[in-house]
Amino acid sequence: MSSTEIIEPAAIEVENLTVSYGSKPALLDVSLTIKKGLLVGVIGPNGAGKSTLIKAILGFVKRDVGVVRIQGIPAEKAKGLAAYVPQRGTVDWDFPVCVKEVAMMGRYGHIPWYRNPGKQDWKMVNEALEMVRMTEFSDRQIGQLSGGQQQRVFMARALAQSSEILLLDEPFAGVDAATERAILDVLDRARSSGRTLVVVHHDLTTAAEYFDRLILIKQRLFAYGKPEAVLDENLLSEVYEGRLRVFSNIKNTQKNSNSQAFS
Ligand code: ADP
Ligand code: MG
Repeated sequence: MSSTEIIEPAAIEVENLTVSYGSKPALLDVSLTIKKGLLVGVIGPNGAGKSTLIKAILGFVKRDVGVVRIQGIPAEKAKGLAAYVPQRGTVDWDFPVCVKEVAMMGRYGHIPWYRNPGKQDWKMVNEALEMVRMTEFSDRQIGQLSGGQQQRVFMARALAQSSEILLLDEPFAGVDAATERAILDVLDRARSSGRTLVVVHHDLTTAAEYFDRLILIKQRLFAYGKPEAVLDENLLSEVYEGRLRVFSNIKNTQKNSNSQAFS
């Protein structure tokens, strides 16, 4: 490294993070640094604290101990720097609102209270809907969409926020194969535009193919690094405790992702 190089802050820094609900820690002493421009998967069994990690990075849950920084700024002051795509099951779809209105919610942090969305806001909403290929559904009620379409609208809302950092909680859960490809394509293009993405993912068979880095957690951080290092048989058996049906094929599935390796 030359001495004149400007050192950019990491996209996300987590230091000694502990988060508890009541007396039970969901995350314990987690530290990791995510560099800008990476597509990072978060893996671990049910209840491992994956959603809690995302929420802690967003500053949505109270930390017992630890520091979170977004682009060098403490999480509590970094509101709006990171955009969030919640898990689909946690959203009320009967709410009477159409696709473009949901996407416009991503602009709210940028629009002063005394004015309506402007031309620039609509331009960004339209670009976001285009990026997730939902333009033709702009006026459709959100409750009338398929699960995969709803997921893409939520991604559009996050993209319209024009944040450098996107955090997505299980975007692939319950979508069909075509939608999975479409969502992956959006993630790839968001990364190509220089964004940093952190994605909770439950399918180990596709984890190596989809992500640049993997975070393996179960309350504690077990590993963070390149998929081939994290998808280690011993590590996985320790973290999943026999809940993995097939260990031996995980390595192979990095090339051939259609075999069953996770239950
Ligand atoms: P994951 O997303 O990996 O399934 P979570 O982060 O949702 O895990 O949950 C981690 C742990 O914290 C689990 O034991 C879960 O039951 C608990 N937990 C999560 N949210 C709450 C909450 N709001 N109140 C109490 N316990 C919670
Ligand atoms: Mg979760």
